[in-house]
Amino acid sequence: MDPATGERGRCDVAVADGWIVSMAPTIASELAAGVVDAQGCVVLPGLIDLHTHVLSSATFWGVDPRPVAWRTGVTTWVDAGSSGAYNLAALHELSVTRAPLHTRAFVNISAIGLVAETGETQREELCDPAVCAAAMAAHGGFVAGVKCRLGGATSSGMGLVPLRRAIEAAEAVGAPVMAHIAAGPPDIDDVLDLLRPGDIVTHCTTGQSMSIVDRSGKVRSSAARAHERGVLFDVGHGSGGFSFAVAEAMLAGGLLPDVISSDLHQRSIVGPGFDLPTCMSKFLVLGMSLEDVVRAVTVNPSRALGDSLGTGGIEVGSRADLAVFELVSGEFFLYDTYLERRAAPRLLVNRATIVAGVLLPSVPAAPPAHWIELTERQRSQMGRRAAELRFPWAASLTQPEDFMRPTIEGPPCADQRI
Ligand SMILES: [Zn+2]
Repeated sequence: MDPATGERGRCDVAVADGWIVSMAPTIASELAAGVVDAQGCVVLPGLIDLHTHVLSSATFWGVDPRPVAWRTGVTTWVDAGSSGAYNLAALHELSVTRAPLHTRAFVNISAIGLVAETGETQREELCDPAVCAAAMAAHGGFVAGVKCRLGGATSSGMGLVPLRRAIEAAEAVGAPVMAHIAAGPPDIDDVLDLLRPGDIVTHCTTGQSMSIVDRSGKVRSSAARAHERGVLFDVGHGSGGFSFAVAEAMLAGGLLPDVISSDLHQRSIVGPGFDLPTCMSKFLVLGMSLEDVVRAVTVNPSRALGDSLGTGGIEVGSRADLAVFELVSGEFFLYDTYLERRAAPRLLVNRATIVAGVLLPSVPAAPPAHWIELTERQRSQMGRRAAELRFPWAASLTQPEDFMRPTIEGPPCADQRI
């Protein structure tokens, strides 16, 4: 299934030297060095996770993508602001060691990036557009745009200043801005009105006070206007970015998220976000078609990146980034970041991940950072996770107490509950 071309059908795919060289109903495999049997599965372009945190060993949130990529189909990892101008080079160098995985970065407008949990845009002098633009220019094609986190303790008292600075830096190099929304101030309408076509609003399904859905359950007119002029809406599930109620209101209002991303980091990886396929399964529960869900993790994020990687499609001549998935039927319960749950009759489970023609081998799960608090049940599930890696935790962890205690109480308050 390739939403970029609209192709959908049953065929063999032959890969050589990292590229797709043939697609036909039957391709003789006698001479092949290896065969991946995808009978009963759906073969997708390698997934692009547009919002992750992969500056591990150097930041509060960072995770190593290698123990996750091989079992999730994610071949392109886009880091969303873990690094700023001062540590972008470290992320770039680390990314080279993770080949064949592809990595791109949104650079934080705060020069220190996300070394700590929060507070990076509180100090005005750290948000210097010229310094940010110079770092982006120095790392050319590695950079996808500028990240700016707003709200709560992150930008406390700074209002729209960090966002204006991020836009100034982005304009200097012709890149998009990814704006993070959470608990205001600032006001969500003011944020959305500043965003330009091609800019991205992440955590678009947040249930916090900057929600794009108003208290009556309607999509705000500022959000509809922004979408109309080409602002992209990205899920960024994370540990506060996904509310089933808000997502339902969005879909009911005809606003489909352009991009589904995991916001994978040290907290969300232990649930209820878990990984990108689990986030995708939640949108199947909400009634989005498989094709629309796949579009939101392939061709749409590829366009958000300016298509420069050539990822997001399956056709002869394109790079052999492929993800083999099974749609597993059963009775599963999936939770949002406020521990509201929905029954899911189907889960997307990855069966093979191929990057530039390389079938990724299994890599054991990494232990959580020692500053991440886990519940007793989470700790006891660590062994099980190792045994059921492709079925990470969605099936085995089905009770709210299995998850990380939400760091954000929610849904925020009764009258914001939609
Ligand atoms: Zn994030």
